[in-house]
Amino acid sequence: GLSPEAYRCKHEITVTGHDVPPPFTSFEATGFPSEILREVLNAGFSAPTPIQAQSWPITLQSRDIVAVAKTGSGKTLGYLIPGFIHLKRCHNNSQMGPTVLVLSPTRELATQIQDEAVKFGKSSRISCTCLYGGAPKGPQLRDIERGTDIVVATPGRLNDILEMRKISLHQVSYLVLDEADRMLDMGFEPQIRKIVKEVPARRQTLMFTATWPREVRKIASDLLVNPVQVNIGNVD
Ligand code: ADP
Ligand code: MG
Repeated sequence: GLSPEAYRCKHEITVTGHDVPPPFTSFEATGFPSEILREVLNAGFSAPTPIQAQSWPITLQSRDIVAVAKTGSGKTLGYLIPGFIHLKRCHNNSQMGPTVLVLSPTRELATQIQDEAVKFGKSSRISCTCLYGGAPKGPQLRDIERGTDIVVATPGRLNDILEMRKISLHQVSYLVLDEADRMLDMGFEPQIRKIVKEVPARRQTLMFTATWPREVRKIASDLLVNPVQVNIGNVD
């Protein structure tokens, strides 16, 4: 295989941070549990995408990460699979609230993320609930009550449910801001900050974004601790 430097060069990868582990250039190299590897091979994937290859070893070290990569580059499994492994390490009681929280800008994207979580997490017995606006709260509240390992939510609906005190985020220790640039464009910054106040400071925080403008840098510097940054392709 290629050296880490040659791999990064070939895929135009820039990494900023100290002691960055080398990329996983094959699924075998990830050391993922066999039930997760089976799902990935069942899906017909032949190798990790560049953002997965680069970010997985960093995320699995429980470090904060900023990943900048364009749409369609496989970012969802980039954060979901390490989230599954984080869940296995935690042994939390899902009735006490989710351990993994993913914030997403829209109902459509949140639903797609949930579909992927269900598909790839089923054999690991991981449960996932999706919270979004424009739909009745009843079924969403019932899903939370039943207990859920992962919550994928749009910021507005999650705040509504937090205000009703129908969910607790005190157990969240793996927080993902997906499409951070888009969430800020849509005016969700105050909502995001309100939600993050409910999440313990002792956590791992991951930020995924397609672009890297000043507003995104600012919220990253406020919410992440010593993140490693991975850029795929030209950023700015
Ligand atoms: P992004 O969030 O970066 O826009 P997605 O996570 O939605 O991208 O992934 C785009 C598509 O690529 C999805 O259909 C996903 O299932 C697929 N995909 C993810 N990882 C791989 C992989 N390693 N090999 C092939 N396809 C993949
Ligand atoms: Mg995505």
